Amino acid sequence: MKDKFNREINYARISVTDRCNLRCRYCMPECGVKKLSHADILTLEEILRVSKLFSRLGVKKFRITGGEPLLRRNLPSLIRDMKKISGIEQINLTTNGVLLKNLAPELISAGLDGINLSLDTFDEKNFANLTRRRLFSHVLEGFQALLKQNFKNLKINCVPLRGVNENELLKLANLARNNFIKVRFIELMPIGCAWESGLRGIPTAEIFSTLERNFGKLLPVYDKNPLKGPAKYFKLPNFIGEIGFIDAMEHKFCGNCNRIRLTAEGFLKTCLSFDLGLDVKKLLRSDANDDEISEKIREVVYNKPREHFFNDVNKFHDSRLMNQVGG
Ligand code: SAM
Ligand code: SF4
Repeated sequence: MKDKFNREINYARISVTDRCNLRCRYCMPECGVKKLSHADILTLEEILRVSKLFSRLGVKKFRITGGEPLLRRNLPSLIRDMKKISGIEQINLTTNGVLLKNLAPELISAGLDGINLSLDTFDEKNFANLTRRRLFSHVLEGFQALLKQNFKNLKINCVPLRGVNENELLKLANLARNNFIKVRFIELMPIGCAWESGLRGIPTAEIFSTLERNFGKLLPVYDKNPLKGPAKYFKLPNFIGEIGFIDAMEHKFCGNCNRIRLTAEGFLKTCLSFDLGLDVKKLLRSDANDDEISEKIREVVYNKPREHFFNDVNKFHDSRLMNQVGG
C-alpha cells in the first residue's frame, strides 16, 4: 500500500503490551503507567486478524514490541500463527531481554526471524540506575543464550546517553568484533520521559568519530532490501559483525519511511510524532467485515504525515509514552 507521497508502506510494528518489567528513565515514569484492563488491549486473535489485513495490504515485515513483549502470555504461539500468513516475510522482536533466557528456544522454534536486544550498558550499577531495576544478570544470561544458539539475526540497540553510558560505547561496539551481530546506536528522541528525565543523548556524528579514532575507518555496507529500516550499517577493520546508526534527530529518514505502528490498545499510528491514525480495535469489535476494515486502514495510511517534527515542540504532539507506542 502507498501513501500520498508515494512511499511504499510494508513494515508494521505491533505493540503487544504496554506493561514492562523495567523502568528505563527515558521511557517510563518510575511509578509505571496506568494499567490497562484486559478488555482494553487487543487479544491475540485480534492481533492475528489485523496482521492478516496488514499483510493483504502489502505489509511484509512485522516487529513485535511493547512495553516488554515477552510479558505477553502465549507470544510464541502468536508468532507461530503469524508465520503462517502468506505474504509475511519477516517477524522480528524487540525486547529488553529480562525474560529471554527461558523464552528464546520457544521463540526461535516458533519461527522468529530476528531479535533486537536493548542494552544500553554492560555495567550492573549503571543498568540498575538507568532501568531502576536490578535485573542486569537476567539480560546478560538472555544475551549469552542467543550467542550460544548462534541465533542468526541478533542486533543490540543502545541509546547513547551523555555521562551515563558514554564511557561504555567502545565496549558495546566491541561486541561486534568477534560476534556476527549488529551493534546499533540510536539517538535519544524527545519522546516518553526523555526530556524530563534530564538525560541527554549523544549525537551520532560524535560516536562515529570516536569509533573511527579507536577502531579504524567505518566502511558503509550498502543494502538495497526494500524492507530495510532506517539504520545505516558499517564495517570496521577486523570486526565480523557490523555497527549501525539510527540518527533520527540529525538526519530525518521520513522520505523513505515505510512503517506504521499498532499500539497495544489497537490504535493504528501512522507517524511516531503525531497522534493521527485509526481506532482499529473499535472496528474489530464492530460488525465491520475484513474488506471494510482494510479500506479504512488503506485510507488512513494514505494520509500518513510527510515527516516528524521532533525538533519543533509546537508541531510535535502525541502524549503517548514510548512503552505505549513500542519505539
Ligand atoms: N521493552 C522493549 C525494549 O526495551 O527493547 C521494547 C519496547 S522499547 C519502547 C523499544 C526501544 O525503544 C528500546 O530499544 C528503547 O531503548 C527505545 N526507546 C525508548 N524510548 C526512547 C527514546 N526516547 N529515544 C530513543 N529510543 C527510545
Ligand atoms: Fe520497558 Fe523497553 Fe521502555 Fe525500558 S525501553 S521501560 S524496557 S518498554
